[in-house]
Amino acid sequence: MTHASPYWNPVLETLPPEQLERLQLKKFRRIFKWAYDRSSFHRSLYDQAGITPDDIRSLDDIRQVPKVEKHMMRGIQGKPPFPYGDALCVPLEEVTEFRQTSGTTGQPVYQPDTWQDWEWWAECWAFILWAQGYRPRDRVLIPFGYNVFVAFWAGHYGAEKVGCEVVPGGVLDTAARVMKIRELKATAMMGTPTYMLAMAEVARNRLDIDPAALTIEKITCAGEPGAGIAGTKQRIESAWGAKVYDHAGATEIGAWSFECDAQPGGMHVNSAMFLVEIEDPDTGEPITEPGRRGKMIITALDRMAQPCIRFDAKDVIEWAAEPCPCGRTFPVIKGGVVGRTDDITKVKGVLLAPTAIEEVVRGIGGLSDEYEVIVTKKGDSDKICLKVELLPDAKDRQHEIDSRLIDQLRLKTNLRYDIEYFDFGTLPRYDVKAKRFKDLRKKG
Ligand SMILES: [Zn+2]
Repeated sequence: MTHASPYWNPVLETLPPEQLERLQLKKFRRIFKWAYDRSSFHRSLYDQAGITPDDIRSLDDIRQVPKVEKHMMRGIQGKPPFPYGDALCVPLEEVTEFRQTSGTTGQPVYQPDTWQDWEWWAECWAFILWAQGYRPRDRVLIPFGYNVFVAFWAGHYGAEKVGCEVVPGGVLDTAARVMKIRELKATAMMGTPTYMLAMAEVARNRLDIDPAALTIEKITCAGEPGAGIAGTKQRIESAWGAKVYDHAGATEIGAWSFECDAQPGGMHVNSAMFLVEIEDPDTGEPITEPGRRGKMIITALDRMAQPCIRFDAKDVIEWAAEPCPCGRTFPVIKGGVVGRTDDITKVKGVLLAPTAIEEVVRGIGGLSDEYEVIVTKKGDSDKICLKVELLPDAKDRQHEIDSRLIDQLRLKTNLRYDIEYFDFGTLPRYDVKAKRFKDLRKKG
């Protein structure tokens, strides 16, 4: 491999679209037949729909294949073989990795992988990291508590595969991780947007270290939409003096997308390894044109132990209109994952995506990175309250900040908020994923 190539896999990443589609169809047929032959969960799902591997002759035929939802994967875990259930397509002896979902939306789902699957995870991450400028000279700190969650385990192995030197920052606390960056002159790191901001705050306020003066050149964010939100991305970039790249992946799916160093305002789908479809959440009709949002249906084309075939990930995405200047033929989703179908909710009769509020708050100077949104019901009407923190040096500008905030929120979300101001450091801090949106209406 020549280090001069901008692509990890120069053949696959520049494959003409019709060849990419042929590859996807071939791989889909293989994984479909694999699951049909080996897992009674998949077999009975497909038998009920009256579809067999021979029925898949074109990419259009794939839409006949039933979708799998998260609650179905939860449902099979009581069945043998313990602990995974009957979506398992390999003998238990071949499983080498146990992971589980974080359980933010309910009971965690167990995820088995074989060693071959694990190498596939690392390969997927190699595409991501190479596209973001990771090279063998990099020293990558992973400031993350290694656990049963897949996050950043695969990033760790991917970075090794690319040839980087990897520093596991697992059991260290935040201050010790910052000190480690300084001690080792680490050049890159990975984390959730929430944690990248929290770490910068600890550096500044507890250690009196300016994180931008450290040696971090690039940060790969995952786990939350933040790195796709302009205001949040800009805050992380200026805090660390580094380029920030977005990535989305999931335990049940794999590492399916990445922002490249051309930063086209969205993320590439790794179409050599995943098939992404977008469909209208109400009608189920496929969306192939750019600029129309829908929910993602995704297939991991090469994952064998517990296949992911037409999984309804609840992610809201849309295709970008323009190809990326980097030359990759992998299509781009505009703005990354813009929300989750679960999160988009009606407030005062208006559809609200919480990411729109983040975009506004993080785009206004004088406010800290923290905020909280609380929706309640009074009588028949919804009330929406936004809590923000004023930075100490912005106290005399509260009036001006307040009117900007009100204007921007109305413009971006069509809603009026009760805004409450707090002193810096008083709202809750989160280590990994933040819980900033609280809908209290259902509990009365
Ligand atoms: Zn690109």
